[in-house]
Amino acid sequence: WLWKQSSTSDTQAYLRTQKTRPKKSLGQNFVVNDELLAAIVREAHIQPGDVVFEIGPGTGNLTRYLLQAGAEVTAIEKDDTLAAGLAQACAQEPKFTMVHADVLALDLQAVIAACLAQKQHTRARSRKVKIIANLPYYITKDCLRQVLPLGDSVSLVYLMLQEEAAQRLVVEGPGTPHYRAMNVFVNFYSLPRYEFRVDKSSYHPQPSVDGALVRFRLLPQAERLPMSAEATFWRMVDQAFAERRKMLRNSLQSLYEGALVTATLQRIGLPDTARAQDLSVAQFVALFQNLTSQT
Ligand code: SAM
Repeated sequence: WLWKQSSTSDTQAYLRTQKTRPKKSLGQNFVVNDELLAAIVREAHIQPGDVVFEIGPGTGNLTRYLLQAGAEVTAIEKDDTLAAGLAQACAQEPKFTMVHADVLALDLQAVIAACLAQKQHTRARSRKVKIIANLPYYITKDCLRQVLPLGDSVSLVYLMLQEEAAQRLVVEGPGTPHYRAMNVFVNFYSLPRYEFRVDKSSYHPQPSVDGALVRFRLLPQAERLPMSAEATFWRMVDQAFAERRKMLRNSLQSLYEGALVTATLQRIGLPDTARAQDLSVAQFVALFQNLTSQT
């Protein structure tokens, strides 16, 4: 199994043996380009002893390359048939663990902690894990919200995204047209980097748009901006962007008095006409810390 290729015909043949077809509902577009799979593993600097969590392994096309590179792989797959198929294919592989679950329903932090505690007794050398995911595009944001805050136990996250979504996550900043709450979130918890474009012909079945690989270098808590109450902070950021064309003194009215927002903006050196789309991550944090110290 390990030396099988990942072409479209190999993947189709494997799906036939499992008596299943690609499911749209689970965003199943499998990578069928061996050069691309090798490039992902190279880009992620996968080395023997690395502990890798692969989310959505599907037919195992990338899993095979991760194992070949010497990684200890924990795969999290929601699809009943594909999870069982991969677990069976890897039954003799000591470096492989299957978690048959919906990643969004998992306490990932606990699963990673348990895995690292177990690895302390093996030859794995990592104190942190790498995460690699090629997930349905519609759960990308939820998955990022789940994974990016895990900087104390996860070093790097590699995510395959739609090309346009990848650009928006990495390129947008204060003042650019598509700057959103998600950009503040990404840049608070990580240093994102666009790696490379992935042509849609690299997938089976072929999606309608190209993809891209994005790397997120996660910041451990000690390296993030100091933050007292993260949940309340994100409520403020989400509220600010919910009405992003409004001035903050108006858009934040349901949380803080307009006059207080105006005075706080001035105190931190911002115009009282500022809108969500104007503020950097550090400025949002300064606004929040000053607002909460006065209420
Ligand atoms: N990694 C494989 C590859 O590159 O060929 C498959 C990628 S495919 C785009 C997405 C995979 O994620 C599928 O195997 C799908 O069943 C799985 N998946 C979808 N939603 C999931 C979820 N919530 N939790 C875990 N796996 C999920």
